[in-house]
Amino acid sequence: MSDFETVIGLEVHAQLATRTKIFSGALVSFGDEPNTNVTPLCLGLPGTLPVLNRQVVELSMRMGLAVGCTIQTRSRFLRKNYFYPDLPKGYQISQYQSNNEMPLATGGGIEVVTADGGTRFIRLVRIHMEEDAGKSIHDEPFVPPGESMVDYNRTGVPLIEIVSEPDIRTPEEASQFVNRLREILVYTGVSEGDMEKGHVRIDANVSIRPVGSEELGVKVEVKNMNSVRNCQRALEVEIDRQIDVVNSGREIIQQTMLFDPVREDVRPMRTKEASDDYRYFPDPDLVPIVVDQPWIDRVQSQIPELPAAKRERFESDLNLSQDQADVLTADRQTADYFEAVIAVGVEPATAANWVQGDVLRTLNEAKIEIDQLRATPAQLAALIHLIDNGTISANVARKVFAEMASTGDDPSDIVERQGLVQISDESALETTVDELIAAHPDEFARLKEGDKKLQGFFMGQIMKATKGQANPKIASQLLAQKAQ
Ligand code: ADP
Ligand code: MG
Repeated sequence: MSDFETVIGLEVHAQLATRTKIFSGALVSFGDEPNTNVTPLCLGLPGTLPVLNRQVVELSMRMGLAVGCTIQTRSRFLRKNYFYPDLPKGYQISQYQSNNEMPLATGGGIEVVTADGGTRFIRLVRIHMEEDAGKSIHDEPFVPPGESMVDYNRTGVPLIEIVSEPDIRTPEEASQFVNRLREILVYTGVSEGDMEKGHVRIDANVSIRPVGSEELGVKVEVKNMNSVRNCQRALEVEIDRQIDVVNSGREIIQQTMLFDPVREDVRPMRTKEASDDYRYFPDPDLVPIVVDQPWIDRVQSQIPELPAAKRERFESDLNLSQDQADVLTADRQTADYFEAVIAVGVEPATAANWVQGDVLRTLNEAKIEIDQLRATPAQLAALIHLIDNGTISANVARKVFAEMASTGDDPSDIVERQGLVQISDESALETTVDELIAAHPDEFARLKEGDKKLQGFFMGQIMKATKGQANPKIASQLLAQKAQ
């Protein structure tokens, strides 16, 4: 056991789901030919002036309100000056927070579940708006050895930066924090949240301190984690390193580390600039952002039910387990699909089993999203109805669902077309049962002696012989009668 407590604060960048960039009409895109979505403004050419994309403010406010931030009715953009080839203007347009400067949204927070099953509220410092930089390319085949190229397609893509207070205590809580944030970003339509496309990027700040201490230790920033899993892993590695440093009598130095996902280690990048190295000052090309209460109210009213509230409702109103609620609310489309099935009168528990089981499995196998699934919620409800009224067995229903998913046909049509109606006719089933008993006399003798395992064997045989169409209840009653 270690005598140290871990302290973590995260800075999460999220790309906003706008059509165009933050200050120009250039398209936001992914995977396009380099330097094709670029205007003179994106290149920082003299004589160009930024015009703020209203949608950026709208989406940033939406996220702020979704996580309980206070929206500042007046904020402004500042220039953060630094030199790097992917930043042609020599400064990034961002927002700042100080005694006399407020970004668009401040305060708020989200809850995570702690290792002991309790909850911890992770406070946010702020959410501010900023533009993305371009992308330096070093290791593509078309780049001559020893040279670098720059793609400015990403320059000016709108981002929000979500900054947490140092309230996170474990790498696991950190990964939950990011997952929860991502869920909210996607639910609210603020961001597409695709981590593989870099829509959500994480910088982690971490320090350790003796258990019981209230003072913050020297923090180290870890960058270059392109997945939540990597973030958790990087934090684990960095915490171990810090404990080693302190235990061997050395001191932690404030620096920025890069995570290497292949070697699973961290190594120093650079000592961090003090914030005044950036020489922040208000951007004279942009007017202050003024939002009034009616605008805030309107954005607030557009926020859909959030995942945490949905989970809570699924558990308390629909009596689902925590696990079911988690799976069904993981994305909004799945939750909507499930709710559409129960809206037609299907029991929540039954609908949950189907969506969690065959529906999600079909999506995984076909590698499609739920809105591309050809079987509609109403058709799934109709299928479940066919089981309930004894037309088909649950086994057959699963085959029918697979067919519905690929053809989009109604379950009753498929059942009719393929002759899948359940055999509930006792005399027809009895013939089958008698034949099977005759074919397996030894097994039947053991069943008669009370060996319960043989019941499963015979039921399996009956299902096989009837292509799954035997009514299982009637078949097992018949079998029990014969074995008496
Ligand atoms: P900087 O000036 O280096 O940007 P900030 O105080 O603005 O530092 O904090 C940046 C992030 O680092 C925030 O998410 C904050 O919660 C976190 N942080 C600050 N101090 C610590 C610390 N001692 N240990 C861990 N995280 C910290
Ligand atoms: Mg800071």
